[in-house]
Amino acid sequence: MSDVSIIVPFYNESESVEPFLKTIFLLFGRTKYTFEILCINDGSKDDTLELLKNFKKEYPQIKILDFSKNFGKDAALTAGIDFATGKCAIPMDCDLQDPPELIIEMIKKWEEGFDVVLAKRIDRSEDSFMKRITAGLFYKVCNMLSDIELPENVGDFRLMDKRVLEAIKTFPERRRFMKGLFASAGFKTTVVEYKRPERHRGSSKWSYKKLWNYALDGITSFSTFPLKVSTYFGLLVTLSAFVRGIWIFFRTICLGADVPGYASLMVAILFLGGVQLMSLGIIGEYIGRIYIESKQRPLYIIKDVI
Ligand code: UDP
Ligand code: MG
Repeated sequence: MSDVSIIVPFYNESESVEPFLKTIFLLFGRTKYTFEILCINDGSKDDTLELLKNFKKEYPQIKILDFSKNFGKDAALTAGIDFATGKCAIPMDCDLQDPPELIIEMIKKWEEGFDVVLAKRIDRSEDSFMKRITAGLFYKVCNMLSDIELPENVGDFRLMDKRVLEAIKTFPERRRFMKGLFASAGFKTTVVEYKRPERHRGSSKWSYKKLWNYALDGITSFSTFPLKVSTYFGLLVTLSAFVRGIWIFFRTICLGADVPGYASLMVAILFLGGVQLMSLGIIGEYIGRIYIESKQRPLYIIKDVI
């Protein structure tokens, strides 16, 4: 059993394979810790797999899980956790945005007795303005709506003891919002801070559409609050309609009936129509998720373990 399992997903990362692996081997070469590197090839269409295989010939510490297609980073991390054999594991990106030097610091904390060591970004100045705003908003909304506490500016880069991995393996859900799962597992946790460098090679694999869906996943995985919003709103609308109804009743009795009212009628109909569609949409989001969970499909399919 090695001390540390490094879990790294690769998706079209041929440019990053060599610099990443070399950095890790250099780093561990200077320490006494034994390690394995679990490389998950998440259906890359370039020659990432060939490059990984070449490295594997030279370095037996490398283990390759080759997915049958692209399943996404969270599925890749799940596979890594399932296959990890180390006393602790560290998931990280292959683009060197998670600084490998931090690994040593994390292991030290783990040896001090912490089960989880989070790597927290102290500034996001490398990110675009838009990404910073949306990320900040996401953490605020998520923490407000759900009963788990998502640590702000903490990604998947963290050290977890074997016991934590075992706990995470018992979470049965198909839609895996890993940050949320990690956070809801608990355990004795500490933080190390770092400044996130720019991506070393290649480009980010996240589009805004992917990020939006990721955020929706995060919120709906750990909170049923959006479902209640329509209930409260419905209550409010019903109450005010009731009050207005009474007012109209007495006004008609005192002043007699009048025909005008087309504008206010249209506004009320359109507004309520919109609210109803939105509520249906929210319910649909959850039903969709129930549907996906109920199918019990595998989270990932491994073509080869190399
Ligand atoms: N990744 C993956 N599958 C995907 C998208 C990304 O395995 O569908 C991997 C990618 O190869 C990288 C990590 O997830 O190792 C983080 O991706 P990226 O750097 O694009 O994300 P960012 O740093 O921009 O959040
Ligand atoms: Mg990155």
